[in-house]
Parts: sequence; structure tokens; C-alpha cells
Amino acid sequence: MTEKMTSQLAMKLEDKHGAHNYHPLPVVLAKGQGARVWNVEGKEYFDFLSAYSAVNQGHCHPKIIGALTEQAKTLTLTSRAFFNDVLGVYEKYITEYFGYDKVLPMNSGAEGDETALKLCRKWAYLKKGVPENQAKIIVCEGNFHGRTITVISMSTDPDSRAGFGPYTPGFITIPYNDLAALEEALKDPNVAGFLVEPIQGEAGVFVPDEGYLKKAYDLCKSKNVLFIADEVQTGIARTGKLLACDHEGVRPDILILGKALSGGVYPVSAVLADDDIMLTIKPGEHGSTFGGNPLAARVAIAALEVVKDEKLAEKAEYLGKIFRDEMKKIKSEMIELVRGKGLLNAIVIRPKNGKTAWDVCVEMAENGVLAKPTHGHIIRFAPPLVITEDELREAIERIKKSILSFE
Ligand code: PLP
Repeated sequence: MTEKMTSQLAMKLEDKHGAHNYHPLPVVLAKGQGARVWNVEGKEYFDFLSAYSAVNQGHCHPKIIGALTEQAKTLTLTSRAFFNDVLGVYEKYITEYFGYDKVLPMNSGAEGDETALKLCRKWAYLKKGVPENQAKIIVCEGNFHGRTITVISMSTDPDSRAGFGPYTPGFITIPYNDLAALEEALKDPNVAGFLVEPIQGEAGVFVPDEGYLKKAYDLCKSKNVLFIADEVQTGIARTGKLLACDHEGVRPDILILGKALSGGVYPVSAVLADDDIMLTIKPGEHGSTFGGNPLAARVAIAALEVVKDEKLAEKAEYLGKIFRDEMKKIKSEMIELVRGKGLLNAIVIRPKNGKTAWDVCVEMAENGVLAKPTHGHIIRFAPPLVITEDELREAIERIKKSILSFE
């Protein structure tokens, strides 16, 4: 291609040759470092989306990129038909890190969720004694677990579901943050698991009542039902603890991780569980060509080391408080609500003079802060956790200026 790359050209190419399954803001990024990204023409932004919390460790973290490039020169993929000399090291590292007997490595978050569902069903038949093909899994309204057929079968979002049926059976949907509904659903003896996001990220950063997770966990235990936490978005320091479940001292029976497990440099997901559950899946019953490849394994070790070395959970906790406090101080009718935990936050926008959350995001981009609306009226704010306090305060000023420009 001889034509000089510009933002306009990049957007034109995507529009012409790519499927139209996304509606991005008109910003074309060409470079990232830490909490900052640059567009093709060199304009600088603070990234307040972090690729939906995949880039918790910051863009192009040197330690993670170092691990990637070193391993890429040595061995990238063997498939699981053979052993490789990195996977076991990674498996030991991650299971000790999160405190589980075993890990099952996959690539995307949706695959992690699919894996957890299969594991839960298998456990139900082999261990709980649920009759063949009768296992049910309780899920929550407003959930987001990815885009595969089974995962959208659990969804209540019309955009995710409509036009993609028939759907996978075996799910019971209850309202989020509703313990009475959970208790009722658990009366069914064929219930095998309860799949929940500790904070519903895609739904707009819905934080459940304090104590919800702990009580839900206890209810599950009383009925021999597996508590399955999807921490693909909330996990790995984002909410101010290593896991969002840690806020309530809950240890999920099955834990699903993705996104920041690689610091955003490579698709790496993982399902963690103890032997009693994990060993119900036997050779040939589940897997993926790329899952557990040496490149992914090296990258994930480095990404997890960065989280500890740089105390990212503590940083998220500290900076998150500053962010919410400052947002609550903005005097604008457009701010209906500020909510969140750690550095996973959202503002609910009240439209004004026809201006919506989308317009606020366009104005913020103009002022050098990138964020994306979700469900029309909510803006999620999730910068890389490596952002410094000075950078955060500078970004806050830009966000204030953007919102106040509509007054
Ligand atoms: N689970 C949760 C909670 C998520 O937020 C997401 C993505 O946003 C997924 C699963 C799906 O992850 P992926 O897009 O990597 O398949």
C-alpha cells in the first residue's frame, strides 16, 4: 500500500472491508504507552477504557513485552499434543497466585466462561448426582459473559441475543443483586451452579449491595451448588483487590479470568478450580489449539508479576476513591450518578438538550480522554492501573471540562 495512513483512511478501510459488528468512536490509535495512547496524527489521549480492562498493566508494559518477544523467538505453539517447557511453570505460578489446585488455560473470556459451564455440568453429573442432561445453571439478568451461542443464550440483552436463536437450554435467569430470587431458584435440586459477575461491568458497572456475594456464596454452599465467578473484567486488581470477590472474602469454586491476565498483549484466559471439580474433565473432553501455549504462558506470568511488583490493586483502591470524589464534585445536571469500585467506575448520564453520553464521549475525546458509552446513557471509566496520581488528576480536569461544556 502506497497511500499514507491517516485516521480517515483507516476508518474508511475498516468500514469497507470489515464486518460492521462494532460502532467505535472516530478515533484511530497508532501507539500506546502506560496510560496514554496516540492517534495516527500524533494526538495524545488518556485511555479510560483500557480495552475493557485488559490493559490494567498499561500499554506495552516493558516487562510483559520483554517476555513476549523473548519467548516469541524461542517457541510459540506446540499444541497440547505435546508438553512444552513453560506451561507447567505457568500453571504452578498461577495456581499458587490465586490459591487453587488446578488451572485450565484458554484464550478468550467467552471461552473461559464456556469452559466453566462445561466443568460445572460435568461436576453435576459425576459428583452431585444430577440426572444426565438435567443440570441447570443460574445466571443473572444484565449479565455479560461474551458472544458465543451458549453465552448469549444466558444473556438478557436484546442486542446480544436477538436473531441468533435457537438458544442453548439449561439456564435459570434471576435478577442481579437479589438474594431472595437466588434462594428460590436454588430450590431446584438439578441446579449445579450459580454464575455471577461480582460487579456487572458491561451492564454499566453495577455494584451489588455489600454482603451480596458472601450471602450468595453461603446460599450456594447450603445447596451443594458451585459458586462460579466471572472475573474476566473485575479481576486482576481492577476493583482495588486482586479479585473483586476478595472484597467479601469469597473464594469462588470456579474462577474465570481473562483480559488483564496478559496485560492486553495476547489473548489469555484461565479457569481455576480445585481437583474435585477440575479433574472431572478427562483427556479429549475439552481444549483449544492455542490454550496454554508457551507464549501465552510466559506473557501471563509476566503480567501477573507486574500486578504484584507495582502494587496495582492498592493503587486502584487509592486512585479510585480520588476519581469518584472528584466526579461527585462536578456541578452538572448531566451527572445522575457516580458509582464503582477501585478503578472500575461509571457515570450515569442524564441527557440534556438532546446531548447524550455519546456526545460527552466525543467531547472528552476532543479534550484527550477516551471512554465509551455503554447502554446509551452510562460512561465507564477504567484507566490502566499504572496511571499516576498526577496523570489521573490531569485526566479528571479534562473530564470536568468536557462535561461542563454542555452547561
Ligand atoms: N466476561 C466478562 C465479565 C466480560 O466483561 C467479558 C468481555 O467484556 C467477557 C466475559 C468476554 O471476554 P472476551 O471478549 O475475551 O471473550
